[in-house]
Amino acid sequence: MTEKIQEGLQTENLMTHMRVLCKEIGPRPPTSAQERQAAEYVEKTLKTLGYQNIREQHFKSQNSFGWVVIPASLAAVLGMPIAALGGRLGKAIGSLLLLGGAHTLKELGRARPPFFQRLIARRTSQNLIVEIPPTGKIERQVFLIGHLDTQRQRFITPPPRPELMKPISTAALLLATLGGISLLTDVLFKRKGVARWQWLTGLPLSAGLLSFLFDETQPHIEGANDNATAVAILLSIAEALKAAPLKHTQVTLLFTGCEEAVCVGMESYLQHFAPPQDSTYWIDLEMVGTGNLCYVTQHGLTYVTEYYPDPEMVKLAAQTALKHPELGVTGKDMLILEEVSNLCNHGYKAICIAGYDKGGWLPNWHRLSDNLENIEPDTLSRAARYTWALLQELDNLGGQLTPQPLGGTPDSRS
Ligand SMILES: [Zn+2]
Repeated sequence: MTEKIQEGLQTENLMTHMRVLCKEIGPRPPTSAQERQAAEYVEKTLKTLGYQNIREQHFKSQNSFGWVVIPASLAAVLGMPIAALGGRLGKAIGSLLLLGGAHTLKELGRARPPFFQRLIARRTSQNLIVEIPPTGKIERQVFLIGHLDTQRQRFITPPPRPELMKPISTAALLLATLGGISLLTDVLFKRKGVARWQWLTGLPLSAGLLSFLFDETQPHIEGANDNATAVAILLSIAEALKAAPLKHTQVTLLFTGCEEAVCVGMESYLQHFAPPQDSTYWIDLEMVGTGNLCYVTQHGLTYVTEYYPDPEMVKLAAQTALKHPELGVTGKDMLILEEVSNLCNHGYKAICIAGYDKGGWLPNWHRLSDNLENIEPDTLSRAARYTWALLQELDNLGGQLTPQPLGGTPDSRS
């Protein structure tokens, strides 16, 4: 089936936004001036389209996820040496460090902020929000999410052989936990000394710590695929909705800051605004400009931190894909951690649309090769059209759902 492309969603339009974000602004580290410039570009573009009700939410964040993974893995790595040196008290402290470090890393794997978040969140970032009302009565609200910031080159997320990431990271977490538990039983049963096997439990995280430290020396990437593609699509959809508004679905475009510092912008948004769970639907776009396209059916970077999209959203995504075979979208399990994790944690109905390469991995993920030159305009265009089609599908739900009245979200310019 061929159909005309909705005004606003043309490939050239998408690529214009891509060029500004990738080449005029360039890498956009969390909390940086460039991330701010991206937010300003979004605001300017939306205003040119005639949107006036653009809100900005400021929040505090760290500028790298190194601020979480390095202290947490360092604590775990120090656990065994302290246990070996310090007698019974040393073992108790060592146990606490191993268990605390492993727990913090596991929580990070679900994008939950660490207990020391307030200490490390010392810089300012922003979310940009615009609500686009339908022509008729509002029955539900759909959030489209695209993050403004970009990551460094990182050789640990993913490693050169991505298929090893889940087994290795899971083993590292479980071994550190085992090490911590073994020290605790030593304390309880007054066992002395540290056994050779106990030393080994901290080994994978020691290697992890070195990799985390090395990655902090790497340059920030252009982030064409991750995630200028999402920002470009959100802006194009803003334009398309001007020409063809939805009937009963309010579309909220949520441009988040500091996703790459572990989803700080999304977490801040949910904590501050707490939109209703029942009448909101969330679509996150990640790296949709290269390779093939999917809606993600399973997420997570370890076996113990997997998370899943909302079944109702999966059904809608599958229906949409079936109706538009020309867009070539399919359901797929992915090695990915993104803002759907926060949404799941808070009980929201969410799904992620992502790209994948020939091996089934995120294309050019956290590598310098994630640049505009490696964007495939046709993939980007298909992602925009699929997102648009999914919006139409949601708008056509009619009375199938039991909508709740939408509470007014507080206005924030904090
Ligand atoms: Zn991303």
